[in-house]
Amino acid sequence: MNFETLRKTMVARQLIPGGVNDPRVLAAMGKVPRHLFVAPALQDRAYGDHPLPIGEGQTISQPYIVAVMTEALGLAGTEKVLEIGTGSGYQAAVLAELAARVFTVERIDALARRARQTLDELRYNNVLVKIGDGTLGWREYAPYDRIIVTAGAPQLPDACWDQLAEGGRIVIPTGDRTVQTLEIVEKRNGQPVRTVRDRCTFVPLIGKDGWADGG
Ligand code: SAM
Repeated sequence: MNFETLRKTMVARQLIPGGVNDPRVLAAMGKVPRHLFVAPALQDRAYGDHPLPIGEGQTISQPYIVAVMTEALGLAGTEKVLEIGTGSGYQAAVLAELAARVFTVERIDALARRARQTLDELRYNNVLVKIGDGTLGWREYAPYDRIIVTAGAPQLPDACWDQLAEGGRIVIPTGDRTVQTLEIVEKRNGQPVRTVRDRCTFVPLIGKDGWADGG
């Protein structure tokens, strides 16, 4: 299996026709070895146009939605980014290609540990992984220039807003437990400016300012 060819095909057939056009985002998606973020048995499906299971009932998101959310962040390369929902670590690796530092929080121990290991093996030294409830953000390193939430939230968690820098931007799917819309929230003069984008489907954001576990 030639994964580099599969990656190029993913960019050419899924991302560009889907409307993703930031060349830095396309280059990062064409570079990060997505197949190394899934189990060996699933590697040949890693570049398909769909999410894949990563264990613990969770998923690695479809490449297209990773690209859309990353593009919506509008990264120039100097930013400090907080990700809520590390999962496999793939989105964090894409962010690490495009921003200065990435802080990512995952509530499930086993996933956070595996993501850390994969990111270490690939030498993403600008990514810090924490196990915990990401709806509380990661206060120690706040404020963040950008925040990305990769699980479906009932609403924007207060901590995300509080930990966002002035002029910063949050990309978050909000809605009910099964269907959400992608929202972009910017902090301008301390006030939220919201843009609503595509419909999407994420696993639920579970936590203090998210959904109840198992509910
Ligand atoms: N970004 C991930 C990737 O690239 O593989 C995919 C994320 S997956 C769709 C959503 C993740 O959010 C799951 O791993 C889930 O355990 C995690 N999650 C849900 N609620 C969370 C919370 N309150 N804090 C941190 N992680 C949470």
